[in-house]
Amino acid sequence: MVKMIVKSIRVKSALSKSGLKELNYSLNPYLGCVFSCPYCYAPNFTPDREASENWGKVVAVKENLLEVLEREVKIYKRGVVGISTITDAYQPIEALRKLTRESLKILLKNGFRVSIQTKSPLVLRDIDVLLEYKDRVDVGFTVTSLNNKLEPNAPPAKGRLRALEELSNEGLETWIFLGPIIQGVNDTEVENIIREISNIKARVIFDSFHYYRGLKFKEGSIHWWVNLKNKILENCKRYSIECHEQSEDWIYEKKRYYKTF
Ligand code: SF4
Repeated sequence: MVKMIVKSIRVKSALSKSGLKELNYSLNPYLGCVFSCPYCYAPNFTPDREASENWGKVVAVKENLLEVLEREVKIYKRGVVGISTITDAYQPIEALRKLTRESLKILLKNGFRVSIQTKSPLVLRDIDVLLEYKDRVDVGFTVTSLNNKLEPNAPPAKGRLRALEELSNEGLETWIFLGPIIQGVNDTEVENIIREISNIKARVIFDSFHYYRGLKFKEGSIHWWVNLKNKILENCKRYSIECHEQSEDWIYEKKRYYKTF
């Protein structure tokens, strides 16, 4: 097992303005991510050099995050806050430090809406908070493969799907991010994944892999993507699943985060 180094940092801001259509702000209680997915381009946008250069081994904890957030929610216009735009806010350190849980409480109590994206069933721990404000919460799980071949350090995909089902059964708005889909790597799995989630009331958002410097995968061809996209849409239709492609501004969002830190 890889030894993780945990360090503390202080921040001047908790919420960053988001450039995504569906989000107004983003919140990342930690910098660095021990899940260390091989397709992750967040190291390029992580404003802590140690965490960025030792991706998967160093996690920086924003030790004064909650006090800064308490101040910001009093003065910022209410809106939608994306949780986990540059790290997974439910990576193992959260079980101990609970910054995500406490941030959720502050945001929701003050009228903000939250949209969580994670690969970890640890989010179930916070179901009490999420249910209390369920009309202002949605939770999404990333699933790229049912056998975890792309994310060996993240919680197993089957566990993510069980957690998603539990949240959905509780009446929370849920979704799956099916991506990144990489030509020749996990593109043959999309039908199985869609079949696996067909009994869960969850929306599907999908996307192909977008190359960024330093990553070992290549972007797929246009022809491949058009065919695959049609196949995904057909499969979703077969199971009456709401399904759409992710907007293209995610990568710009990460750049923006870096600038506003
Ligand atoms: S869980 Fe997300 S932030 Fe963490 S390494 Fe994987 S892709 Fe990057």
